[in-house]
Amino acid sequence: MYKKQPEIHTATKTSNDLLQFDKEHVWHPYTSMTSPLPSYLVESANGVHINLASGESLIDGMSSWWSVLHGYNHPKLNAALVEQSTKMSHVMFGGLTHPSAITLCEKLIDLTPQGLNKVFLCDSGSVSVEVAMKMALQYWHSKAHQANNVLTKTKLLTVKNGYHGDTFAAMSVCDPVTGMHQIFEQVLMQNYFAPAPTIKFGEQWHSDDTKELTQLFKQHHHELAAFIIEPIVQGTGGMRFYHPHYLKTCRQLCDQYDVLLIVDEIATGFGRTGKLFACEWADISPDIMCLGKTLTGGYMTLAATLCTNDIANTISTGEAGCFMHGPTFMGNALACAVANASIDLLFENNWQDQVQTIENKLNALLLPLKTYSRVKDARVLGSIGAIECLQAVNVAVIQKRFVELGVWIRPFGTLIYIIPPLIINTEQLTTLVNAITIVLDEDECFI
Ligand SMILES: *Cc1c(COP(=O)(O)O)cnc(C)c1O
Repeated sequence: MYKKQPEIHTATKTSNDLLQFDKEHVWHPYTSMTSPLPSYLVESANGVHINLASGESLIDGMSSWWSVLHGYNHPKLNAALVEQSTKMSHVMFGGLTHPSAITLCEKLIDLTPQGLNKVFLCDSGSVSVEVAMKMALQYWHSKAHQANNVLTKTKLLTVKNGYHGDTFAAMSVCDPVTGMHQIFEQVLMQNYFAPAPTIKFGEQWHSDDTKELTQLFKQHHHELAAFIIEPIVQGTGGMRFYHPHYLKTCRQLCDQYDVLLIVDEIATGFGRTGKLFACEWADISPDIMCLGKTLTGGYMTLAATLCTNDIANTISTGEAGCFMHGPTFMGNALACAVANASIDLLFENNWQDQVQTIENKLNALLLPLKTYSRVKDARVLGSIGAIECLQAVNVAVIQKRFVELGVWIRPFGTLIYIIPPLIINTEQLTTLVNAITIVLDEDECFI
């Protein structure tokens, strides 16, 4: 029951009323509830533009947390949603199935690296990581049960500086420092951490980079259910692009020591790095792969965890006889329909050309910023461009300046980065980089 009748005429509320309520009652990610960073009220978004209620139209450099591929308010994606909604928006996935989900799973199996033949659809990136970790743990449980052995493989190994989501299992494999492990220490799964990869994409490879990792495999493999890593790009950890040979070595170590390889392609999937999946840079197939973010072209929350036949068979012949997970909105029909349309658009639009064009332009415009006194490093991979600064940004101030300059860029820590929708044109991309160039000279934007 409502305590009181909710107000019906929200449209008559002013922007200031709405923002005031938002500030007092609505949680936003990673900001204080009592003294939050400002939020900007959005009225609509179209193509690469986010239109604020205050009248400004901003060129989007963030793709709404790396999820939008083909722009906002896309006629074909809208049409896919409308068409699906006239049939049904959702039905339970227990005992029922539907063409949109089936078609999507078929596409995912076709497009992802070889061997990933079973698809588990779920709600969000974090949940797909939960599912991946649970799959790995249940796989070894089933193996031990069948062989009548004691279960020892109950931990995960990962690298520092990683990010895999905000739910508890996912958090336990995020970087121990930036993932705030100390707050949840008593309840968090205790896993193993290797140093982050240090040899960058494009640099000369040296096997020293995997020395400690190899040592950890050697030392702990009896306890290890899986190794989890973001392929090629450590995203939230600072847009660090590492050498593909590192990932190749991860695959070799997993094979050698009988540990499952989980690859988290949530940020890198669907073309972002210049390959359809970042695994392709190292020419490897994982045992389990997580997809999310761009899966629906940024329209709705949907994720998928893919695994091999071996994992599916082992789990299904184990003690439980099935995998122990089943979200209410599993296989949501609207989300699947828009995901299918987004994947089709990727190929219709020739995503490789789109990404290559963005990469060339970013190389030309962003890399020269390396010479700025505030800049520690500038790097580009596919449609991702990042400026690492020597000082941390003042988020509220720099955000306001970007809005004044007509762009939506949200830096964090020392990192100013852009990851625009693939449909962005050269002129719009130039506006984004020009805005970054301007704020790099403004002291008040930095702490
Ligand atoms: C964003 C992200 C996640 C979490 O996805 P959510 O949909 O926010 O739960 C997990 N892993 C990686 C690599 C990500 O970038």
